[in-house]
Amino acid sequence: MSKIESFLTSKDEEGIVSAIKEAEKNTSGEIRVHIEAHTDDDHYEHALNIFGELKMHETELRNGVLFYLAVNDHKFVILGDQGINDKVADDFWDETKEMMEVYFRKGEFKKGLVDGILKAGNELKTHFPHQADDTDELSNEISKSS
Ligand code: CA
Ligand code: CA
Repeated sequence: MSKIESFLTSKDEEGIVSAIKEAEKNTSGEIRVHIEAHTDDDHYEHALNIFGELKMHETELRNGVLFYLAVNDHKFVILGDQGINDKVADDFWDETKEMMEVYFRKGEFKKGLVDGILKAGNELKTHFPHQADDTDELSNEISKSS
């Protein structure tokens, strides 16, 4: 079994998707998780490419957030779109990342992701409250590439 398949159990994945749905109940912002085995590219640059491939820059308010993980490389990147990056404190994503890393170091990947997603959702809620005509602009499912 490749690492990407054993990284999260299907139950873990369900928990993560539930966290995304939970977070998006309170905000117009959109959260996605993308998991990959490995990339030769710079992880930040690569996350930017994935962000584009997933069309995450097409949300109306530019408030998509991507959690990108390269499992074999032990790297992850959190990327917010322009709309949200204009609003959050400069160290918000670093702070979120550090919180998640505490769990990741213990191998608690699901817990780290769920907490990161809920923290991002809470921040999104402050700047982009849920609107009556809100739609699910980006899928809540975890996407993967190898
Ligand atoms: Ca939405
Ligand atoms: Ca969504």
